[in-house]
Amino acid sequence: MMKVRFAPSPTGYFHVGGARTAFYNWMMARKAGGSFVLRIEDTDAERNREEWVGGILDALSWLGVSWDEGPYRQSERLGLYAGAASRLYEAGAAYYCTCTRDEIDARAKASGGKAGYDRYCRDRGLGPDSGGALRFKVPLPGATTFVDLVRGEVTVDHENIEDFVLVKGSGAPLFVLANVVDDIDMGITHVVRAEEHLPNTPKSILVFKALGAELPAFGHVPVLVNEKRQKLSKRRDRVAVEDYRNLGYLAPAMINYLALLGWSPKDGREFMTVEEMTEAFDIGAVGHSPSFFDEKKMAHFNGVYIRALGDDAFVEASLPFLARNSWWAGDEGQSAAYGRLAPLVKERVAVLSEVAELVRPVFEDQLSLTEADVEKEIVSNPTAAQTLSDVAKRLGEVPEFEPAALEAAVRGYAEERGLALRKIQAPLRVATTGSRVGLPLFETWAEIGRDRVLERLARFC
Ligand code: GLU
Repeated sequence: MMKVRFAPSPTGYFHVGGARTAFYNWMMARKAGGSFVLRIEDTDAERNREEWVGGILDALSWLGVSWDEGPYRQSERLGLYAGAASRLYEAGAAYYCTCTRDEIDARAKASGGKAGYDRYCRDRGLGPDSGGALRFKVPLPGATTFVDLVRGEVTVDHENIEDFVLVKGSGAPLFVLANVVDDIDMGITHVVRAEEHLPNTPKSILVFKALGAELPAFGHVPVLVNEKRQKLSKRRDRVAVEDYRNLGYLAPAMINYLALLGWSPKDGREFMTVEEMTEAFDIGAVGHSPSFFDEKKMAHFNGVYIRALGDDAFVEASLPFLARNSWWAGDEGQSAAYGRLAPLVKERVAVLSEVAELVRPVFEDQLSLTEADVEKEIVSNPTAAQTLSDVAKRLGEVPEFEPAALEAAVRGYAEERGLALRKIQAPLRVATTGSRVGLPLFETWAEIGRDRVLERLARFC
């Protein structure tokens, strides 16, 4: 049976690249009827924070990447790594080394040779009581070859692999040891992970072999880059899944977009359900080159998903984004008004955090004005004041304050003045909604209500 794992280290917000890797693993497991293990690699106490663990679990759940086993925590499995380390030492596959970083650097400098560890303690016969670090004894001469599921054949000469540290002098196991011991213990058959781990893989393979375990298949998915082709970084780019969730991305849109970074189905389809993607997914069809994480394109995807929501589902999804605003009371009146506007709102947003700005003029008591728009459409428009007071008069007389009647009133006025409706609408819109852009004006007025529309117009007459 196929068994895959996702093994994040909780050292920061959960990254979009991690989400993609997790989803690829998840699809592989689902498609093969296999199992998906979640393992938190939290042995590095200095860099891990408990809150990041919660963030990872929340983000995965939100995205629908469910796990069949776990979450396991490496910090709770230290005995297992210590046992494996002793076995490697006893078998002569690892040795103790007491060299300090400074000694290693000084020797490298003096010999003018390669930087890095020179296998100095390899044959010194130091034991566990030396207090040194445990290093892996890379078999020499030799080479390791493996066929990466994504990148094809990779060969590394052992001369180029340092005798890497498995356990620090402090007793703390390092990544390669804990990672491989767990993959063996958990019966992982396929290791699909980020490309940055490709250089670790020959080391991992050597440890698998030294522990007498069968090798899993390995696949390394390409890095994500920004528009400048720089590797996405949490300092420079928006990378946290949580941030996108807060901006109002829908999980199905996000997972669909992320899946297409580096992979596409044979028929080139873009918009797919999770089931369709899972059916079509093939790790062998993932590309080698870095993929451009294009936030604009993801927003476009999200807009398509938003418009595909039923009106009720859209209202439900967007309510939390209204609830963040002081003007939103969520009472019956507001809810009913929002329900009527929602189909118009749905057509005009790419992410749900844009909803509030569109409906704010309807719910806000003290209308906030965009000064630049007031300046352009009212203050520096010589006919604006006239328009506002004339239209105010007519709106006072409209029998039913509803969209069709309001449109007829304003249209009639524009015709009499020989002005385009568009021209007339601009100052009216700024005066009553605060800005030049927004929902269709007459529908908006109907929800604001006659008294408040007239009040807002009066401020400028
Ligand atoms: N803990 C590693 C990371 O977060 C996972 C490496 C792996 O998947 O093997 O990058």
